[in-house]
Amino acid sequence: LSFSSCNLPQKLLQNIEAAGYEIPTPVQMQAIPAALVGKNLLVSADTGSGKTASFLVPIVSRCTSIRPDHSPNQKNPLAMVLTPTRELCMQVEEQAKLLGKGLPFKTALVVGGDAMPRQLHRIQQGVELIVGTPGRLIDLLSKHEIELDDVFMLVLDEVDCMLERGFRDQVMQIYRALSQPQVLMYSATISQEVEKVASSMAKDIIVISV
Ligand code: AMP
Repeated sequence: LSFSSCNLPQKLLQNIEAAGYEIPTPVQMQAIPAALVGKNLLVSADTGSGKTASFLVPIVSRCTSIRPDHSPNQKNPLAMVLTPTRELCMQVEEQAKLLGKGLPFKTALVVGGDAMPRQLHRIQQGVELIVGTPGRLIDLLSKHEIELDDVFMLVLDEVDCMLERGFRDQVMQIYRALSQPQVLMYSATISQEVEKVASSMAKDIIVISV
């Protein structure tokens, strides 16, 4: 499998090439085609495996095909990535910006330690992807400041770590605010608890381990 055989938008292929990604990593080879056709995934993958691009490539591709121009009356987020830390969120957003360059694909961070009004303002101007930590997202949700009805792809990155940090209930609460999105879950280890969270969100999950 190559990136160019995945039926990706031309501009996205150019961005992948510009990032220096020549051949898909093993996790990308398995996850990208499945995620592109809407499958729910539980992926066991470590940092360094190329896991971030394995969910961002399908997100950029699917979001920009659903919303090919960023018209002002379509501005609710379409995809959401949850990670356990602000730092990880920033890394994910940075890679998302690279892959979405020149495409109608805007991103917003929703993390603590940063001015909430600024984050909200950006979201209200219209974004396709939100990258956030569960705590800050719950804040916005409970204030009804964020509209998540159009989110059709949800990524839970480092699920094991989110569970260790006690984010389980917050993650479930966020999930319930969405309309049965496709779920892509990533975890270094797949414990019983991780499996429980996965099966409570989606029935037909494809398990990928590399
Ligand atoms: P990650 O596992 O997502 O933290 O990615 C680890 C590193 O691999 C990051 O610096 C990515 O930019 C890089 N990377 C991701 N996919 C590829 C690829 N297909 N070829 C080369 N490098 C990649």
